[in-house]
Amino acid sequence: MGDGHLNKCKECTKKDSREHFNKKIQDPSFRESEKKRGREKYHRLYHGVYKTQKTTRSKYFNEYPEIKRAHQAVGSVRVGDGNHKHHWSYLTEHFKDVFVLKAADHYTLHRHILYDPDEKKFRTLDGILLGSREEHEDFMNSVIQENVVDL
Ligand SMILES: [Zn+2]
Repeated sequence: MGDGHLNKCKECTKKDSREHFNKKIQDPSFRESEKKRGREKYHRLYHGVYKTQKTTRSKYFNEYPEIKRAHQAVGSVRVGDGNHKHHWSYLTEHFKDVFVLKAADHYTLHRHILYDPDEKKFRTLDGILLGSREEHEDFMNSVIQENVVDL
């Protein structure tokens, strides 16, 4: 109404929106879009450095502006559903040079590499710098094997 009040009591409004939600959740396309919304939120917050703890991820993300900038640079590159973009380097000239990986493989890979903010590239857990795209790719393939996706 004009005074900002709904012409309905609180309980009825609650009941209506509950029924509306229950009806919507039966709809497969709604369920899919809800799932997607959850995934996108996750991407926005944590993509780039996958650690076991949330706090570590956001710490990385905030600490290294190149990671944020690189993600912004490839933000519009579309990859298939369930796939992730992975940077082998966070140097400006490599911002758009990404590998496309299955999400699960991406997580696996990040358990085997550590970000080196001085090089803006990754190292293996043994400390070996993956200094070129080829070196990164070779190591990546040795960890996740045959699941790299072609763009
Ligand atoms: Zn990655």
